[in-house]
Amino acid sequence: MPELPEVETIRRELDTYILGRTVQRATVLDPRLTLGLPVQEFEFRLIGQRVEGVDRRGKYLLLRLTDRVFVLHLMMSGRVHLRPADAVQPHTRLVLGLDRDPALHFVDVRRFGRAWALDETELPTVIGNLGPEPLGDDFDWRTLRDAFRDRQVAVKSALLDQRTVAGVGNIYADEALFSARIHPEAPVDRISAYKLKALARGIVQALQSGIANHGTSFSTFETSRGTPGGHQDHLQVFRRTGQPCPRCTRPIRRIVVGQRSTHYCSFCQRRPRQV
Ligand SMILES: [Zn+2]
Repeated sequence: MPELPEVETIRRELDTYILGRTVQRATVLDPRLTLGLPVQEFEFRLIGQRVEGVDRRGKYLLLRLTDRVFVLHLMMSGRVHLRPADAVQPHTRLVLGLDRDPALHFVDVRRFGRAWALDETELPTVIGNLGPEPLGDDFDWRTLRDAFRDRQVAVKSALLDQRTVAGVGNIYADEALFSARIHPEAPVDRISAYKLKALARGIVQALQSGIANHGTSFSTFETSRGTPGGHQDHLQVFRRTGQPCPRCTRPIRRIVVGQRSTHYCSFCQRRPRQV
């Protein structure tokens, strides 16, 4: 699933290629995309709107339009492609035709992705519950301390909760925990301030290197120009089960935490002692 670095990669490309363009045609090819808003109404809300800004909040992509916000969540397999308006490929669910090519195509094999055409005032109904932006100025270890207070949940699960910090998913949670030498099953209320500082740094670092490498591609993620990201070659633990830990050379292990596949080094990331 695309996480913050993958969505940010797309955001930067859209900012380069479609900022300032005006939506001339909006075509929804899959009515399930609009969450019950009639397709015609959805399309009507976007037509004639100029792209004034391209933002991101967590894993949500936001096109700031003249007086609407177009929101897109890629979910499992969604891809944003920039290509000529008439070059529609299989599994395309939406095309935004602009006053000049390229058009924005939303392609989504598994069809879990969602799109919204909102008034600014409706935006909180979609993104209102998200926690802080980890690459924002006000994110540091105190954000984690406050979010983890009085909770007993495993730290891996807490990081995947978008109310804790927005945009971190399975890949970057594993990478951040490895960097901070924290066991993924450590209960959040037992992590020291020292380790929380390392974790906050680890999150920022993992996300920033993901962005620097244009995202992680295993099977589904592509940039808007149809090329894969490059961060899969730089991961420390994620999907490296059995391969040597980059720090201590012992084999990386895989466990399941909160139903999510989790990768870590059992030597570098010691399980906390039971009380
Ligand atoms: Zn190790």
